[in-house]
Amino acid sequence: MASFDVVAEAGEARRGQLQINDRTLETPHLFPVINFYGGGNEGALFGGGVHRTIKEFLAHDNEVTGGEDYSDLFNGVMTSISSLADYGIREKKLEWYLDNEIREWDCFSDYDGMIFADSGGYKILKQGGLEGEDFEKDIDQDKALDIQLDLGPDIVVNLDHPIHPDDEFEERIEKMEQTAANAARFAERRDEVNGACYLTVHGYYEAMLERSFDLIEDELAEPIPEAFDGIALGSLVPRKDNVEVLVEAVSDCKREMQQRGYDDLPLHVLGISGNAMPLLVAVGADTFDSASYLHQAINGKYCVNLFETVPIDEANFDDCECRICNDDFHRARMRNEMDDLYQKDILGSVAAHNLAVQQRELRKFRQLIAEADKERVAEYLEEAVKDQKGFRKFAYQLINERINPYFEETDTTYA
Ligand SMILES: [Zn+2]
Repeated sequence: MASFDVVAEAGEARRGQLQINDRTLETPHLFPVINFYGGGNEGALFGGGVHRTIKEFLAHDNEVTGGEDYSDLFNGVMTSISSLADYGIREKKLEWYLDNEIREWDCFSDYDGMIFADSGGYKILKQGGLEGEDFEKDIDQDKALDIQLDLGPDIVVNLDHPIHPDDEFEERIEKMEQTAANAARFAERRDEVNGACYLTVHGYYEAMLERSFDLIEDELAEPIPEAFDGIALGSLVPRKDNVEVLVEAVSDCKREMQQRGYDDLPLHVLGISGNAMPLLVAVGADTFDSASYLHQAINGKYCVNLFETVPIDEANFDDCECRICNDDFHRARMRNEMDDLYQKDILGSVAAHNLAVQQRELRKFRQLIAEADKERVAEYLEEAVKDQKGFRKFAYQLINERINPYFEETDTTYA
């Protein structure tokens, strides 16, 4: 049903193929976050402003794509059960949404990528459940999985209790215990899942991750690789701007997985993308998910590369190789030069470009890893961070110590 094959390695970075039923995904891969439900009806692709425009890209609406096929941007997407209630819907509507799986709706029937249905642990924990206009539902592990399965997903993950940097030690342990208990209940129901089951683990450094894995192993009736098809590392979103913490967390998680004999499982990093992505790939992360392409666009920001954004009216489309920027239709949209444009039309094209930039970087990196040449991987990373002050020193250190130990370029001039 689900398999993961590593096809090439360069240092700790790896290129793989994730196969779930008849769908295959090349890794490393970024799952863009999609809100399939924006409070509207099927004819309006369930609405949702810029979210709707993104769904129109995904569903090949020619009026929005200009007739081009952009489905390669959406080979695998992430959606969360918490997004069902993002638009303050009524309970009747929620039930109507859940009556059909995503691909059973005519508007999404052509979509052939993978759907990763997140349990929405972070948001659900914060709100205490799923909250609409006329309902409040407590969500536990069973209810979360019921809703995930209603979406018709390829990948599901247990309901987790993310830890926060400010949590006291006892609080972290309590959350890890709850996540472990959920993982055990989730594993009991794995026969109901026609796809891959991912296990969430939490921690910023080795001792915490060790505890997280220990607690889960104690709760489970069978070894982790028999119950789960992948590992999802969570709780990193509050630390997303500290690349050092992120690299340490991913790298320590990999080490734990190796020591316990499950490094054959794919490692997903929840909620992270952008500038940290190449370094996390370098220490062994396989997949990511992120809504940053959308949030940047909603804030009027156009990505120049993984590190920099500029306000959309300062963007130079000639400098971008992506198909959106090379298409006069989208250029006119992004410059607001067409009649009757809504904000969502302008920002939708910007979001698609932002996503294309992130996907392009990962594609480049995938190709380099396939050559299994550590030196070229190191060069790629060096080039990627060369203009990034504050990031550079750490990145070079990582390259020297972990990726290509004989790489001699680094000296004090980088500091
Ligand atoms: Zn572009």
